[in-house]
Amino acid sequence: MANLGGLSGAGGLVVGPPGWSGVAAGRKPNISLVVPVYNEAQAIEAFVTAVRDVFAQLHASFEIVFVDDGSIDGTATVLSHLCLRVPGLVVVRLSRNFGKEAAMTAGLDYCTGDAVVPIDVDLQDPPEVIGDFLEVWSRGVDVVYGVRRERHESLGKRVMAQLFYRGFNAIAVRPIPVDAGDYRLMDRRVVDALRSLKERNRFMKGLFAWAGFRSESVVFDRPARVMGVTKFNLSRLISLAMDGVVGFSTLPLKVSSGLGVLVALAAVAMMLFIVVSALFYGNPVAGYPSLMAVLLFLGSVQLMSLGVIGEYLARMVSEVKERPTYVVEAVVASEVGSMATPALTVS
Ligand code: UDP
Ligand code: MG
Repeated sequence: MANLGGLSGAGGLVVGPPGWSGVAAGRKPNISLVVPVYNEAQAIEAFVTAVRDVFAQLHASFEIVFVDDGSIDGTATVLSHLCLRVPGLVVVRLSRNFGKEAAMTAGLDYCTGDAVVPIDVDLQDPPEVIGDFLEVWSRGVDVVYGVRRERHESLGKRVMAQLFYRGFNAIAVRPIPVDAGDYRLMDRRVVDALRSLKERNRFMKGLFAWAGFRSESVVFDRPARVMGVTKFNLSRLISLAMDGVVGFSTLPLKVSSGLGVLVALAAVAMMLFIVVSALFYGNPVAGYPSLMAVLLFLGSVQLMSLGVIGEYLARMVSEVKERPTYVVEAVVASEVGSMATPALTVS
């Protein structure tokens, strides 16, 4: 079967042959690591060393596509110096901080491997696991995702993650594997399928699950961050979770309209009760507490429902505007050694 990667037919995406992406027998598969980095000057060198050590043991060649997500520390300098010394590096520098999801999208657009592995630079996704990923991939599995057994993170973060994964799966169109992050290996045809998704709201874990394909998991321990600090504070995590829910479920909208119906029914019942009791027993006028209770309740339900609609509307506005997901300022590669500025903005 010919590799039809990326061709569209009858409104759908036609992708190439299953697994191993048609890597010719005997040829070393080429693996792309996609690494979003934001102010990670301290962590990059150790990461590159670890990756090179791992690939020295594997029957595969590699490229590392760093996406510099608008870093303001020495990240850009560290990366361009590394390009002069280490082969197989590509640095895509974004014009500002677009967030990890957008940076990962850029990495998927710029990588060329037969299989692609999104990985964090802080060694919390241990590169040794790539060997296991490759082994499963060689059996024709298109997506091999890492599942974290031990998470050396704060209790609060672990509880929030658990709550989110379970809540998300209860309402989302496609469930995401519990305790799987972005660390995974994807065959080229999965990457092509992901690249065909044009939405701006890129909650990658949801998009990965949406793409489907034959998937298997590999379990690993997630160590604590060795260098640098986490780039995700509470508000960023909440906004990511909101992106996920709004992008992959319409249940909140349905709940808010269902709630509207319930409240309307309760209001009618109460109205009848008030009218009938006033007719039979007269009206002692003392209705302030019940009036306030009803008023506040109705007001808060209305505001809540409006808020839910607003969340969807806000994302619709950003989709309709069709702004690019990211803007590339420059691309540097080891082979070139010098800076190439792309003529166009890629989204
Ligand atoms: N990151 C990024 N852009 C951002 C935030 C984070 O590219 O706006 C990168 C970061 O440099 C790291 C990866 O995303 O390589 C994961 O970030 P972090 O380790 O802070 O997340 P955590 O592991 O705490 O969830
Ligand atoms: Mg981390």
